Amino acid sequence: MTRHDTLHPTEVVDARTAPAAPSDDATGVDPAYTEHLAHNYHPLPVVVSHGEGAWVTDVDGRRYLDCLAAYSAVNFGHGHPVLVAAAREQLDRITLTSRAFHNDRLGPFAAELAALAGKDMVLPMNTGAEAVESGIKVARAWGYRVKGVAPERAEIVVMDGNFHGRTTTIISFSNDPEARADFGPYTPGFVSVPYGDADAMAAAITPDTVAVLVEPIQGEAGIVVPPADFLPRVRSITRDANVLLIADEIQSGLGRTGATFQCDNVGVVPDLYLLGKALGGGIVPVSAVVGDADVLGVLRPGEHGSTFGGNPLAAAVGLAVVRMLATGEPQARARELGAVLRVGLESLVGRGVLRTRGAGLWVGVDIDPSLATGRRVCELLAGRGVLVKDTHGSTIRFAPPIVATEHDLRFAVDQLAAVLDELRA
Ligand SMILES: *Cc1c(COP(=O)(O)O)cnc(C)c1O
Repeated sequence: MTRHDTLHPTEVVDARTAPAAPSDDATGVDPAYTEHLAHNYHPLPVVVSHGEGAWVTDVDGRRYLDCLAAYSAVNFGHGHPVLVAAAREQLDRITLTSRAFHNDRLGPFAAELAALAGKDMVLPMNTGAEAVESGIKVARAWGYRVKGVAPERAEIVVMDGNFHGRTTTIISFSNDPEARADFGPYTPGFVSVPYGDADAMAAAITPDTVAVLVEPIQGEAGIVVPPADFLPRVRSITRDANVLLIADEIQSGLGRTGATFQCDNVGVVPDLYLLGKALGGGIVPVSAVVGDADVLGVLRPGEHGSTFGGNPLAAAVGLAVVRMLATGEPQARARELGAVLRVGLESLVGRGVLRTRGAGLWVGVDIDPSLATGRRVCELLAGRGVLVKDTHGSTIRFAPPIVATEHDLRFAVDQLAAVLDELRA
């Protein structure tokens, strides 16, 4: 167990001595696309200009199968006609009102999203990190006002290897040195335990614990799937201890894993869902906290908000996304396609792949590190028309849009096979 408020920054400063990222000149990308950008990303050398469905096209007209789907923000594909139509129609009506007034799109969006999640209430925000921050504030307020925790004492249990976003509070409870170093002082009030270890989680709970914050599958950590009984045990332990369970489904939710939420796949209902990414249909940032009135209802007017949160354009697109998910079709398609992708990638075990793991249309592939880095494999795949992203050294993740075809997925597997054969030659 790591108490994050007591971690000294010098314990986690490797990022400071890391070599600078190679300049993009070396990769052949026209500096016009990069030179005035801060260096907080190290993109693959592909300059995308168009997208349709599961495919994108670069400025030179080359086509790529998008197997990242903007970290699952593009679950429904690029330019989904229904979502684009919803956005277009709303662009012509009104796009921003602020929450100082009601708008005619937000109520229906909240009602249908709440129904999709089986909850009462929706707190609309924009980015995923804002949903996480909002969930933390709600849990603390619930702790003080409902549970009766003494002022300033609230604690939240988080998991090692978590990724919940990039704000100063959120990186305070990350244990990724790159995300943390040099950004302190850190926000106190978080305790971290090993992911997948329900006993450690139970041991970390004190009378001051207000919530357990967990990703049902850790996406950024490399699509890490916990033991099947982990979330059910976390649910029963938190319920017994009068502690909220907050599921960060920002990446795992909304169809990706073959269900509306990954929590559904393990039969768990959290107190709060944190949603983002695909909720905006790949068009606008839309995030939300979804929960019942006995928890989300603790917020009072003036205590929390966002200028853009719940704007009519976001609500119109979000409503179209929710209606698509309410049919169950994207979830079913993710299950079917996921089986095809998983079998294909699994067939490469022993040919340069060490193992695969995942759920639905979301597969993490560990490449034999003696062959190449994940980054190198991603560069070679890009050269063969497949865009994927590495994470943590030698893991690459496949999360194509749910509108991909089986043929597309076989293409992706064939290209990975060819890259690995080349590297082994
Ligand atoms: C991407 C992500 C976030 C942060 O979302 P942003 O929109 O980038 O702020 C939070 N949690 C999880 C699990 C994510 O994958």
